Amino acid sequence: MTDQTQSSHTDQKLLLDYLAIREDHCPSCDYNIHKITSDTCPECGEALKLQVAMKTPKLAAFVVGLIALSISAGFPLLFAALITIIYFIDNPGPGFIQIVTSSLAFFALLCVPIYIWYRNRSKLIRSNNHARWFWACITWFSCPVSLLTTYIILEYFQ
Ligand SMILES: [Zn+2]
Repeated sequence: MTDQTQSSHTDQKLLLDYLAIREDHCPSCDYNIHKITSDTCPECGEALKLQVAMKTPKLAAFVVGLIALSISAGFPLLFAALITIIYFIDNPGPGFIQIVTSSLAFFALLCVPIYIWYRNRSKLIRSNNHARWFWACITWFSCPVSLLTTYIILEYFQ
């Protein structure tokens, strides 16, 4: 028997031993999985595993920052979409292509902080409460900056 197969059997045994003495519910369908005999949910068939999780996930600041950065990135994307809709309804202004391409380029640029924020989520979660919320608050400055830049793009090419 390989180490991986042995580890898999141990994991399954630990799961079944845990559920033999504890009431718990399937995270997928909420079916009571107390005293199940295999590592799949009898109701929905989803594979189950036993894992360690933090008591308090500390994800609030990360989610708050992610919302702020997503809103920021959304401004130029929304703007490009609106300009494109107007293009099909009415005659576009002379700078239509430049406005849309600049907005889309700005959107792509604003995806970089989202990627950085996502990649560093474990560092953020490990940092202390003040630092976590400080960085979450900082991300909200990106909203007015994005809105102002989007407005400047419109004014510049119009
Ligand atoms: Zn289930």
